[in-house]
Amino acid sequence: MSNAKKIEVTDVILRDAHQSLIATRMRTEDMLPICEKLDQVGYWSLEVWGGATFDACVRFLKEDPWERLRQLKAALPNTRLQMLLRGQNLLGYRHYADDVVEAFVQKAADNGIDVFRVFDALNDLRNIETAMKAVKKAGKHAQGTICYTTSPVHTPELFVKQAKDMQAMGADSIAIKDMAGLLTPYATYELVKAIKSEVDLPLVVHSHSTSGLAPLCQLKAIEAGADRIDTAISSFASGTSHPATESQVAALKGTDYDTGLDLELLSEIADYFREVRKKYHQFESEFTREDVSVQINQVPGGMMSNLANQLKEQNALERIRDVFDEIPRVRKDLGYPPLVTPTSQIVGTQAVYNVLAGQRYKTITNEVKRYLQGGYGQPPADVNADIQKKAIGNESVNEGRPADLLSPELNKLRDDIGALAQSEEDVLTYAMFPDLGREFLQQRQDGTLKPEELLPAEQHGKSGMGTAVATEFRIDVHGETYEVAVTGVGDSGAGKRKIYLSLDGMPEEVVFESLNEYVAEGGSGRARASEPGHVTTAMPGNVVDVLVNEGDTVTAGQAVLITEAMKMETEVHSSIDGTVKAVYVTKGDRVTPGEVLIDIA
Ligand code: MN
Repeated sequence: MSNAKKIEVTDVILRDAHQSLIATRMRTEDMLPICEKLDQVGYWSLEVWGGATFDACVRFLKEDPWERLRQLKAALPNTRLQMLLRGQNLLGYRHYADDVVEAFVQKAADNGIDVFRVFDALNDLRNIETAMKAVKKAGKHAQGTICYTTSPVHTPELFVKQAKDMQAMGADSIAIKDMAGLLTPYATYELVKAIKSEVDLPLVVHSHSTSGLAPLCQLKAIEAGADRIDTAISSFASGTSHPATESQVAALKGTDYDTGLDLELLSEIADYFREVRKKYHQFESEFTREDVSVQINQVPGGMMSNLANQLKEQNALERIRDVFDEIPRVRKDLGYPPLVTPTSQIVGTQAVYNVLAGQRYKTITNEVKRYLQGGYGQPPADVNADIQKKAIGNESVNEGRPADLLSPELNKLRDDIGALAQSEEDVLTYAMFPDLGREFLQQRQDGTLKPEELLPAEQHGKSGMGTAVATEFRIDVHGETYEVAVTGVGDSGAGKRKIYLSLDGMPEEVVFESLNEYVAEGGSGRARASEPGHVTTAMPGNVVDVLVNEGDTVTAGQAVLITEAMKMETEVHSSIDGTVKAVYVTKGDRVTPGEVLIDIA
């Protein structure tokens, strides 16, 4: 054991573990009671913050993410707190100007973050440089991150070069971030050995157990000289989450690599989170279990459950294998980006469009266009020139750092949000999520913040398998609340199914075949598209912007609407020359495929 040493442990229970298994829904109230014990473990760090936790706080839990951080800091005085930062994207989905990046890092440090794991989805180091410098300036630990993926261009030599470049940038440690669970034990050994032989920095391996291989990968990483592993306490481990903390601690116990962590204390913590997990049963998904197919299609776990939800909404869940097959093809077309936020959404959504439209690249999302213009940085390999041409025509491709095109924007953000922001942190919340952040700050001011409702535990598990579907709902329609219960499903006749509902206790009988059929029968109040001038959408989503008014003259191919689905925006075009007769949607409306949104004749 030539590299023998004590292995350090980062537990991701408060960030990645619940992000990977229950859609990032764990609330601060379920974290604080166990912090005293977590703080006694002796972890090298606890990962507590990241893009998805920030998003879920504002979007669903109606918690101030900054307040969560301050509370965790106070409750964990002896443990480093760690966050995941998307380089120039910070916690949002676009590139921010350098002044916002610098302010965000400083405020995250001020509020309690000690360790910043900084990555760029394309491994384009120009996109992490500003953030890394800001971390150093704040006197905190800057961890340079390699987003691991496999492709003809992603060789160990390429990753070693990246690690060296990050060391030159001032990195305090290096992380191999295997978000999809693509690492295999011997590939890990080779990669870790190669990096450790050339870069004298602590190395940590973050690998998801999606394929079931992560615990083995970590053992080989340790044998190759890795210094630290990311694990999740067992009740939130495995599958699309991480190797179980206790198992890895037990595996190394009594060896030269012994972590020194107390298994009994860890077991008590695991017991606590086992109970907590039950509260969030409605967010459990069958797509978070171990599945070796990730080694074939490279789809990260979090992405799988998102895709499954999106397809379910489209009544097209049976196409999920087609989407999984399409993802590697889109990825190749885009020059083999690693699949991690935001490239996972960019590739995944385009793959869904390609499959559901029955024709590849019939619809191209705005993000794919921006990507092919160089808007996210340098793709790892050449992109497909035909698709690039189709997406952006003869427009030029930016070869520079995307943020170099951005002017300082913090003052504008401060002006835009105005008095709703009571602190610089509030301004940054607004910067990360403009619409959602503003709504959150407005509701906070009005005293109307209300977290999403959780389904009571007793409605769950009627099947005894922990997978029962809820049959009672409370729905809000135009401000009025209705109690709806599905009381039975009838026989199918002529391709239709009867569903028996009870509405506020009164029995109702509804007959429909699918969501699309329901729309056809006027479920949304919009007519079914039947003419070439009927503008509709290919995916269920929200209207981001309406680009035309009644009476406007439009030409075929002109963008008339922007919709958002799966966090990606798409322009919807008129297919004919004509005049806008009617506009049936406004910004923020929920829309489903097949509905007439704009009528052009
Ligand atoms: Mn992860």
